[in-house]
Amino acid sequence: MPKNQPDDLFKLLAAAQHRLDEGFADLPPNPAPPLDEQAAAILDEVATKLHDNYPYAHPLYAGQMLKPPHPIARAAYALAMSVNPNNHALDGGRASSALEIEAVAALAKMFHWPQHLGHLSSGGTFANLEALWVAGQLAPGKAVAASDQAHYTHSRISSVLGLPFVAVPTDDTGRMDLTALEHLLKTENIGTVVVTLGTTAIGSVDPLDQILKLQGRYKFRIHVDAAYGGYFTLASNLAPEAREAYDAIPYADSIVVDPHKHGLQPYGCGAVLFRDPAVGRLYRHDSPYTYFSSKELHLGEISLECSRAGASAVALWATQRLLPYAPGGTFAQGLEAGRDAALELNRRLAHSSHFVTPATPPQLDIVFWAAKSGTTAGSSALAQHIFDEAARLDLHLALANLPIRFFPPDTWPQVEQNKTVTCLRSVLMKPEHLSWLDRIWQRLEAATGQAALSITQ
Ligand SMILES: *Cc1c(COP(=O)(O)O)cnc(C)c1O
Repeated sequence: MPKNQPDDLFKLLAAAQHRLDEGFADLPPNPAPPLDEQAAAILDEVATKLHDNYPYAHPLYAGQMLKPPHPIARAAYALAMSVNPNNHALDGGRASSALEIEAVAALAKMFHWPQHLGHLSSGGTFANLEALWVAGQLAPGKAVAASDQAHYTHSRISSVLGLPFVAVPTDDTGRMDLTALEHLLKTENIGTVVVTLGTTAIGSVDPLDQILKLQGRYKFRIHVDAAYGGYFTLASNLAPEAREAYDAIPYADSIVVDPHKHGLQPYGCGAVLFRDPAVGRLYRHDSPYTYFSSKELHLGEISLECSRAGASAVALWATQRLLPYAPGGTFAQGLEAGRDAALELNRRLAHSSHFVTPATPPQLDIVFWAAKSGTTAGSSALAQHIFDEAARLDLHLALANLPIRFFPPDTWPQVEQNKTVTCLRSVLMKPEHLSWLDRIWQRLEAATGQAALSITQ
């Protein structure tokens, strides 16, 4: 696994740790408790226990949304842990708070936001909670609307916040249906529309540009959930509809992006950004607005969470330094490679006699397909078999229950369009997936052959 070469990592880390310790060398020595043989045995036990994982970091893991942190993120995180800063307050994490402000500003710049208020969070769920908490205060009692393909946590978050929640139907490509949305907006009960740029199941991109046009006729707030898909704004190979949706991000009210999904970070790193810094007043009523746009803000005073790992901010900042969010840069190329891999896998699947592919190609880097069979039950069973056989060949895919309307109408013409079928699904989010595609394809074909045999036996 080239991304995990421990030699380089530990050598760099030791040197950086030495430099960090120098900063505190004037203090009387206070050695840490030694790690003795018992500790070594425990670590050995832990390492052995961790064998019980799928090989998430390897390109043959092509299932769920998992991407290994960049080695520099691992190193920076580990380094920061020797300080263990808390980014709740400047006193608890001075340097790491400053780095968080810079890292979040880099996200805002990537989205072409001229100003913002924002911070990191433990993940996308908490970041969305915060965005909807602000939205709910600005439109008390009004509903949150998100598509039926939006992340499942939106309805739960709304319930936590005591806000009504409405699911908006999607079209056959998994994008929010504009006619259905407008119908709902006419009721004047919708305070916030959650627009998902990159749904978690299939990577569909809601038409943000079109939804923004509706703001001319109806009053509502737009929150963009780009926890998974946000970084694709840097990719040069999006289809025109998706590009137009991403180009509209500067006009949204708030946005969530997860650096721990596509941003090469360890878990525990989400981000929420508000376009209008004045929402800071909702966090702390007795502070003047200017306080929140000052560089000296305490991140804890614009965050619902209290203690947060300063190490997350340090890791993100270091990764951004190495791989800036620049169109055409190495980081952007990594996203483009994943997307190219998805398009190529989809092309091969579409030409195969064993599979059914959706009517439109992948919108980002998630591919899904069904096993060809006369019935949805047969197709679902076959998908499960292929999934199992592929795992035996070290190819790890995912399964997803998806509505059959995502497939061409003649696939199962007798079946009600919203019934679901178990599909195979692959998130090709590692840059290496492109160069591994032949090996992935070979294993998928072999697994499909095995599955067909085991079903006829
Ligand atoms: C993953 C995801 C979330 C939830 O984020 P976590 O970091 O898992 O809490 C929310 N929305 C979308 C679109 C996601 O893909």
